[in-house]
Amino acid sequence: MIVDKLGRRFRNLRVSLTAACNYACTYCVPDGKRLLKARNELPATDLLNAVVLLQQATGINKVRITGGEPLVAPRFDDFLLGVMDLELSDVSLTTNGQLLLKKKDVIAESGLKRINISLDTLNPLRFKQIARGGDLETVLSGIDSMLDLGLRIKINMVPLRTQNLSEILPMLDFCLERGIELRFIELMRMGHLLHSSSFSTDFVSMETLLEVIGEQYEFTRTNAPYDSTAVRFHIPDKGVFGVIANESEPFCRSCTRLRLSSDGYLYGCLSSINKHYIGDLLTSPPHLVLPGLQDILAKALGDKKLAFQGEVTVMKLIGG
Ligand code: SAM
Repeated sequence: MIVDKLGRRFRNLRVSLTAACNYACTYCVPDGKRLLKARNELPATDLLNAVVLLQQATGINKVRITGGEPLVAPRFDDFLLGVMDLELSDVSLTTNGQLLLKKKDVIAESGLKRINISLDTLNPLRFKQIARGGDLETVLSGIDSMLDLGLRIKINMVPLRTQNLSEILPMLDFCLERGIELRFIELMRMGHLLHSSSFSTDFVSMETLLEVIGEQYEFTRTNAPYDSTAVRFHIPDKGVFGVIANESEPFCRSCTRLRLSSDGYLYGCLSSINKHYIGDLLTSPPHLVLPGLQDILAKALGDKKLAFQGEVTVMKLIGG
């Protein structure tokens, strides 16, 4: 097992099924171009094989399927069914929810238990301005369809000072009424935001968020697992919400995440530009595969930082 000085090891794998996305969220895709894939995306069988090998090499036992938008990838069905057949302690999916109605049957067939759906606003016009693709009603129907299936749902919202600050409480009410855990993601200095003034203009800190929520609700901080990304709060008789506080309270020192991009690169840290290609290893003679992977994983673990600094890497390329 590869472990660093802080006791960090890889336990959670995020697989980006494709870099293509049917949205072009202002904070993620500055040029507004949708559906752009990475140049050499690996076939589903290679990505699945990579998951099996990473499981053997590092003891990874949790996999999140993400993107880009994973549901636009033609290989989504095969990959989901394949991953669900592996002996993993947890499989989850992160999606913008636009295609959930279309994928309801395969999700039911797969036995998936939990899903994260990204939604930044309940206002249809605002939705179009932020996501620059899709429509709100379809996402809301998709959320209902997942509730019908009995999936455990978390909704991810990125609060942006100039765009959806007034929707923090309506979004929280929407989630509490449905037994959904809302997770506010502090805006991260990724991609174009690393060197853009729009980061500081739009950034909403955990402190500000809690002030806004405190106007309506009393809440207390609750325990979160050791390597959780979120700080969690309990509102008595109502439910729970979380904050992924990359800036205010970074979780880098207990980070166990590893990312695999759709074009076959491993990323050990969001705050590092380093990436490690494993596409060719997947077709190497079997006796070379695991040692080769161990070398690469040691390098990827060495990329982990002590605090979140952001990077020019675009979230949709590496699997948010
Ligand atoms: N398309 C899927 C979705 O929308 O959930 C998965 C990929 S998306 C990159 C994953 C998450 O990253 C979304 O919740 C999105 O809001 C978030 N995200 C992207 N760029 C971000 C940034 N700069 N800061 C904070 N969150 C970001």
